[in-house]
Amino acid sequence: MKAVRLVKPGQPLVLFELPIPAAGPDDVLVRVRAAGICHSDVHYRAGVSPVYPLPMTLGHEVAGVVEQVGAHVRRLTPGDRVVLHYLVTCGSCIYCAGGSEQFCAEGKMLGHYTDGGFAEFIAVPERNALILPDEVPFEGGATLMCASATALHALRKGRLKGGETLAVIGIGGLGLSAVQLGRALGAREVYAVDTQPAKRALAARYGAQPVDPAQGDPADQIRQMTGGRGVDVSLELIGLPLTMRQALRSLAPMGRAVVVGLCDRPLEIDTYRELLGPEAELIGSNDHLLHELPLLLEYARTGILDLSQVVSRTVSLEAQAVNAALDELERFSAGVRTVIVP
Ligand SMILES: [Zn+2]
Ligand SMILES: [Zn+2]
Repeated sequence: MKAVRLVKPGQPLVLFELPIPAAGPDDVLVRVRAAGICHSDVHYRAGVSPVYPLPMTLGHEVAGVVEQVGAHVRRLTPGDRVVLHYLVTCGSCIYCAGGSEQFCAEGKMLGHYTDGGFAEFIAVPERNALILPDEVPFEGGATLMCASATALHALRKGRLKGGETLAVIGIGGLGLSAVQLGRALGAREVYAVDTQPAKRALAARYGAQPVDPAQGDPADQIRQMTGGRGVDVSLELIGLPLTMRQALRSLAPMGRAVVVGLCDRPLEIDTYRELLGPEAELIGSNDHLLHELPLLLEYARTGILDLSQVVSRTVSLEAQAVNAALDELERFSAGVRTVIVP
């Protein structure tokens, strides 16, 4: 089979001819029909985020059709349309058993620590493959497995309840999903903060109130728009101390700020005014969980989560096309969503 792999960080990905992976007794072999190219893949290729062992087939946003099942597989049969949960775990440790499998010591992310979906086939444990409803195309299904899933997890970490208000800071793929999912979870009002007019306009199309940082401190603007109260939940999706602090300062009393953007710099806060006094919570959120995905797929099936704006183009499984898509992501950072269709 063909597979596009990272051989050396800082170098373009390379097309390999490899044997089709063998599915173990608990695994399914999936014929890849769509694999999303994510901003994380840019970091992997550049060596910003280490990938091992090398060479590695990248690709963690995968949808396809079950080709073959192992002897112990009961739930899935060949021909089933599936999407893949990208974290492959042991399935039996205290974290896996408790539904917090992202802390499994044996956890391996597809396309990062174990071969991913930039290939014609991929083998994964049966529990990592979820049925993709017929209403959801493979391309949209693949991208659900990363940004949308992470947005849903963040909203769940923030314990957003019906009738509450939400601020989303940073409207990329994650933010656009968060706006729609926030409304699906019952947010009364959603405020969307982004410096780019096109992104604010897109968020507004999904019912959010746009907030332009050029018009003044977004936290002050949100406070004004909420009659001085602030929001119940804020999501920070950018990864800057400045926007993290804005997320905290946008909160109403007993509000929850969820930090999702990656950042390696310290965050300074006014502990009394911003945290203790209002009994605010600052919450970290990372990735997402297998048991959150059925709800997400149901939102996509029923159109509550609209995927029509997510995928901007498709490319074939060729090293040159995939590298060009990564170059584009590296240059423009957002607004481009390319999916490989082998
Ligand atoms: Zn991704
Ligand atoms: Zn485990």
